[in-house]
This record gives sequence, C-alpha cells and structure tokens, in this order.
Amino acid sequence: MGIPVWTAHRDIPGQKQAIANLPEASGESLSVLEQQVAECVACDLHQFRKNTVFGVGDPQASLMIVGEAPGITEDLKVEPFAGPSGQLLNQMLFALGFSRDDVYIANVVKCPAPEDRKPNKAELESCSSYLSAQIRLVNPKLILCVGAASAKALLNRNEAISKLRGQVFEYEAASIPLIATFHPAYLLRKPTEKRAVWNDLLLVKEKLRENA
Ligand code: SF4
Repeated sequence: MGIPVWTAHRDIPGQKQAIANLPEASGESLSVLEQQVAECVACDLHQFRKNTVFGVGDPQASLMIVGEAPGITEDLKVEPFAGPSGQLLNQMLFALGFSRDDVYIANVVKCPAPEDRKPNKAELESCSSYLSAQIRLVNPKLILCVGAASAKALLNRNEAISKLRGQVFEYEAASIPLIATFHPAYLLRKPTEKRAVWNDLLLVKEKLRENA
C-alpha cells in the first residue's frame, strides 16, 4: 500500500560538504544548489512532492524574503508564495517600492507537506542548510522573514512572531540585518494586524536606505 514511514531527518553523505563548497555569489551556483535540492531525499517530505520549490527572483537582490514552506499551490506552480498570500506579499513589496522580480523569495523548507500541514522540527532542520547556502549566495542587504517559522529558524529563537516583529536583528551566519513580520496568510485571516505589518515595512525601508 505505499504508506510512507515517518522518520527523523537524516544527513545525506556529502550533502553538507557539497553545499559548503559552492563558490561565492553567482546565478550559476544557485542553479547548482537548485539541482541538489531537486534530487534531495534528506527528509520524508520528498515522498510527497511533485516538485521542489527552490526560490525565485533576482539572485543579486538587496532584499530577500523568507517564508516557511511551500503549500500544494506552490508545489504545482513551482513558485513560493503563489495564490492569495502571494498576492498580498506582492502588495507588501509594492508598498516598499519593489516588484516581485526585484527581490529574492525562498522558504526554509523546499518540499510541501501532505495536506498543507506545517513542516515539523526535523524537516525544518533537514532543509535549513539549503536556505543558509541560498542566503550566502544571494548575499542580500536585508532579510525579511514572514512568519514565525522562518524567523525562528534564522535567529534560533523561540519567541512568538508578535514578540520578534518590529525589531532589527542580525542573521549572524552572514552578518545580515533581519526583520520579521507576520506571514501574509495570517494577515488574510487577521487584517487588523495590517498596521503592525505596515510599521515593519517602514522599518525595512529605513534599514535598506541606511545600507544603500
Ligand atoms: Fe530535502 Fe528539504 Fe525536500 Fe526534505 S524538504 S527532502 S530536506 S529538499
């Protein structure tokens, strides 16, 4: 009956070293990394994907957006932040003076989970080295985490997103300023938080201007 067996994440021999050996920023290296992700079976989520959802946008973007994981819609479109939450993200970017093509967008986890459930801790840990490599290759001036999972993964903190938002942190592995805000999907459910997100976007704008 092909029932998947759920196990803790496993290291693929050579995976971490291959990622570490990627040369510095270039679109070509992102392509190499994308191919590694497409072949990855490091956690059980590989059993459920139609595609891997690696990332889109300008590989030399000043602003990198990081979300949690693709859903089924993103899996089918092979693009992060598709559907209504993607449209809202586009509006947020427009408010910052960016189009979707001006930024780089990725998730912590590259494969969708069954029935759009959230990825578990082991899955987040399995996939996070790909995101670290992506950040290193894009080398943005600022990272905007949307949602708690990406902020927690990059900051290694456990507070709720309501506590993490509204501040400037540093993604220590690459010394890049990091701001967290609510996920667009949450904003669709709770539009009263739009004011808080707007304030976070103003902070992003200010920080990008400082680092221009
Ligand atoms: Fe590999 Fe990430 Fe997909 Fe797991 S979610 S199989 S670690 S690419």
